[in-house]
Amino acid sequence: MKLQVAGIVRESIVDGPGIRLALYVQGCPHRCPGCHNPQTWDPAGGTAMALSDLQKLILGANGIDGVTFSGGEPFAQPGPLLSLALTARSRGLNVVLYSGYTFEELWEKSRCDSAVLGLLQAGWLLVDGPYLQSRRSLSLPFRGSANQRLIDLAPSLQAGRAVLWESDFPSRDCWSKIE
Ligand code: SF4
Repeated sequence: MKLQVAGIVRESIVDGPGIRLALYVQGCPHRCPGCHNPQTWDPAGGTAMALSDLQKLILGANGIDGVTFSGGEPFAQPGPLLSLALTARSRGLNVVLYSGYTFEELWEKSRCDSAVLGLLQAGWLLVDGPYLQSRRSLSLPFRGSANQRLIDLAPSLQAGRAVLWESDFPSRDCWSKIE
C-alpha cells in the first residue's frame, strides 16, 4: 500500500503540542482561498511512498511526542493513514489530525467508512475545518483561522459531538511559547 505524500518534517513544533513528526499528505479537495499549500491540492502530485517505509520512519523516530497528519487532506487517504496511526500508537506516540472537513462532517462520513472511523478513533486531537481567510488569526496555537477547532477526539466520539480540547499536555511550557 502507498501513501501520496507532499512532505515530511521530522521535528515540528507548529503542528500540535510538543515535538512532532509531521507528515503532509498530497491531495486536497477543499481549495480554500488563501491556502498556504496549494501545491498539495493535486492528488497526483507529490511522491507515492510505500507504507512500509513510512512505518519504519515512525518506528525509528526519536525524541518526539507524537505524529501529525496534515495536508492536503488526510481524510482523502484514510486507509493508509489509519495503518500509520496504529504504528504510532503501538510505540506510545499520540496522533494529531488536521482536516478541512469539520468534525461533524467526518462523524457523518465515519458511519459508512470504517477507515475514517478508525482514524478518528486512533487520533488524539483533531484540528478541523477549512482555512477561512476572513477569520485568519496569527494568535491561535496550531491553527490558521478562528473557525478551526482543537477537538479532543476520545470524548467527542463518545458523545457524538465536538468536545474542545482543554490542555493538560506535559509539554505545555514548550508550545505555549508559540501561542
Ligand atoms: S484544507 Fe488545508 S490544504 Fe486544503 S485547501 Fe484548505 S488550507 Fe489548503
